[in-house]
Amino acid sequence: KVVVVGSYNQDHVWQVDRFPQPGETRRGGGFRTGPGGKGFNQAIACVRQDVTTAFVGARGHDALGDGAAALAEAEGLTGCWQVREDVPTGTAAILVEASGQNQIIVDLAANERLDPDFLCTQSALFADARVLLAQLENNLDATRTALQLGGEHELIRVLNPAPVHPDLDADLLGLADVLTPNESEFAQLCARFLDTEVATDDVATLDDERLHALCRQLCGGSVVVTLGRHGSFVSHGDARRGDEAACYRVAAETVKAIDTTGAGDAFCGALVAGLADERVTRFADAVRHAGRVAALSTERAGAATAMPRRDEVVARFG
Ligand code: ADP
Repeated sequence: KVVVVGSYNQDHVWQVDRFPQPGETRRGGGFRTGPGGKGFNQAIACVRQDVTTAFVGARGHDALGDGAAALAEAEGLTGCWQVREDVPTGTAAILVEASGQNQIIVDLAANERLDPDFLCTQSALFADARVLLAQLENNLDATRTALQLGGEHELIRVLNPAPVHPDLDADLLGLADVLTPNESEFAQLCARFLDTEVATDDVATLDDERLHALCRQLCGGSVVVTLGRHGSFVSHGDARRGDEAACYRVAAETVKAIDTTGAGDAFCGALVAGLADERVTRFADAVRHAGRVAALSTERAGAATAMPRRDEVVARFG
């Protein structure tokens, strides 16, 4: 079982031929709205790999929040919502360019008010779980409490450090057993915590030794850097347990990407599903399956609703 503590946002998506410049108005088209938020997307990706998944998050007392709760139930997520009377459900505006690139503005609203004390009341959910997954789309105290509860229950704690929060501290990173930054998040973490400037566009082409060394310094645990169409880089091993560290790359699958929104979320959700599945004995196999789920997700528009199911992934890639 996996516990995901995270965010729910209602996505509002428009297609554009190219992103507007500051002050420019451009016409968009193809409007659609649907469920999103890093935490919720990752929880849906996980439960669709046929792994029992609990989602814990905050929503407003409003129509968008009611829709979120109904969808969670329909997808088979267990867990619990904190319903806030004082703030709306989170929302996001997403522009998708013809190239498949995206730009996003998010109003976290209720997600930022997820109460650490509420999480403590839900600690029974952690008792029979194997993996905890959190991101940085709530407030840092809630994320910290989630990771601490995960530690108390001896879960594998996975932190997707996204988006990098301005007040993120090294102690919080140190609570994770596995970190999953994308290239931009990795570059930001290197600048913030290692005083090392790496351009986002250069991350994928850094040599393995250098990437491995940076990952080792970032967190005591394993680091999986997702590299978009270049796949992922894994720096594996927990220095705090005296593990021997190893590093390797996992190539991306060849797909026709039309919308990369949520590729990272598909990856994280499927990765924790693999880590929770006793039949998956090697970390590298969980990473490979995650890359396949993420690749397939880019062939579909949407975030949570675009998450591929396990049987679809097996049918496509074996
Ligand atoms: P994010 O969505 O957070 O920016 P990435 O772009 O790094 O995350 O994508 C996450 C994972 O999704 C990658 O590690 C890769 O496995 C897969 N992926 C993303 N884009 C593509 C693509 N164009 N082709 C194949 N796989 C992709």
